[in-house]
Amino acid sequence: MTNLTRDFFIGLSNNQFLNSQAKKWGFFLGADKFVAGTTVQSVVKAVKELNQYEISCTLDNLGEFVSDKSEAGQAKDKIITLLDMIDQENVNCHISVKLTQLGLDIDQNYCIENMKDILDTAKQYNIFVNIDMEDYSHYEQTLEVLNVLRKDYDNVGTVIQSYLYRAEDDLADLKDVRIRLVKGAYKENEEVAYTDKQDIDRNFLKLAKQRLLGDTFTSIATHDHYIIDELKAFVQEYHIDNDQFEFQMLYGFRNDMQHKLTNEGYHFCTYIPFGDDWFGYFMRRLAERPQNMNLIVKDTLYTEDNKLKKAPIVAGAAVVSALALWRVKTKRNREND
Ligand SMILES: Cc1cc2nc3c(=O)[nH]c(=O)nc-3n(C[C@H](O)[C@H](O)[C@H](O)COP(=O)(O)OP(=O)(O)OC[C@H]3O[C@@H](n4cnc5c(N)ncnc54)[C@H](O)[C@@H]3O)c2cc1C
Repeated sequence: MTNLTRDFFIGLSNNQFLNSQAKKWGFFLGADKFVAGTTVQSVVKAVKELNQYEISCTLDNLGEFVSDKSEAGQAKDKIITLLDMIDQENVNCHISVKLTQLGLDIDQNYCIENMKDILDTAKQYNIFVNIDMEDYSHYEQTLEVLNVLRKDYDNVGTVIQSYLYRAEDDLADLKDVRIRLVKGAYKENEEVAYTDKQDIDRNFLKLAKQRLLGDTFTSIATHDHYIIDELKAFVQEYHIDNDQFEFQMLYGFRNDMQHKLTNEGYHFCTYIPFGDDWFGYFMRRLAERPQNMNLIVKDTLYTEDNKLKKAPIVAGAAVVSALALWRVKTKRNREND
C-alpha cells in the first residue's frame, strides 16, 4: 500500500469528529469482525470461545486520548469490572490498557493513581496488565509511568515497537520486564523511527531473537508469517523453551494461523478489543492492510446471501463523503504549506 493511503487512514484514526460520531452510530463498516462487542459480557464470551481451543487472550477496553477526568474514571471503573468478571468466570486472559485512556494527557500522577487501582485489583486476582505503546509523543511518559509502577508491582509490562531506533536500548533497560514486541502502528517521524518496511522487519527479527535468548517472557505480536517462520526455526535451533514466549495476533486476523500455531504446541494469545470507541483502532488496522477493505465493502453492501443492503449504503455514503472531504482538505493544506 502506498504511504499516502496509509497516512490517509492514520489521519482518520486521529480524527476526533469521526471518532465521536462512530461512538454514537455503533459498529458499522464490518468493525464487528475485529471488535468483540461493546460490553464486558460480550468480550468475556469471545474469550470463552477461544479458550476452548487453548488460546489465551488479552483484552483491551477501546479508548484513547481522553482529556476529561470523568471519562478516564469511567474507563478505569470499566476495566476493574472487567477484572472482576475475568476472575468470576475463571477465563484464561490478561488485560491491555492505554495510558491516554486513563488520563495521561490530563496529569501523569492522576494516570498513575488510576493504574495503581487497576493493578491492585489485578494483583489480587493474579492477572497481568500490559500497557500498550501509543504514538511517540507519549513514549517517554509511558516508560516513566511503567518505571514508577514497577517499584510496587510485578504484574505489569509494556510494548516495544521495532520501528523505533531506540527500541534496542529500551529493551536492554527492560530486560527483566515482560514485553510485547510489535512493529509499531503509528505514523512516526524519520528522526525517531525507521519508515522502510524492510528495516522495521529486520529490526523486529533482531530484537525478537535477543529477547528469546534472554530469561524474561516475550510476546511476539505479528501476523507476518515470514517472521513467524524464521522465529520458529530460531527457537528450535537454540532449544528455547516454549514457555519463554508466546505468539500474539489481533482478534479476527489470520484465524487459521492462530489455530495452527496453537496446534503446533506454541503458546498463543489473541488480543481482543471491545467497547464503543472502536473507530481509531479500526482505521489503524486499515492503514496496515488494504485487503481489510474488501471485507468492509462486502460486509457493508451485502447480506450473507449476497443481497444488497439498503441502510448501510446510506451510512457508507456518509462515510465516503466524509473521507472525500477530509482528503480534499488535506490536499489543500498541503498545497498551502
Ligand atoms: C497482538 C498485537 C498487539 C499490538 N499492540 C500494539 C501496540 O501496543 N502498539 C503499537 O504501536 N502497535 C501494536 N500492534 C500493531 C503492530 O505494531 C503492527 O502495526 C501490526 O501488527 C502490523 O504489523 P504485522 O507485523 O502484523 O504485519 P505487517 O507488517 O502489516 O504485514 C506483514 C505481512 O504479513 C502478512 N499479513 C499481515 N496481516 C495479514 C492478514 N490479516 N492476513 C494475511 N496475511 C497477513 C502479509 O503477507 C504482510 O505482507 C499490535 C499488534 C498485535 C498483533
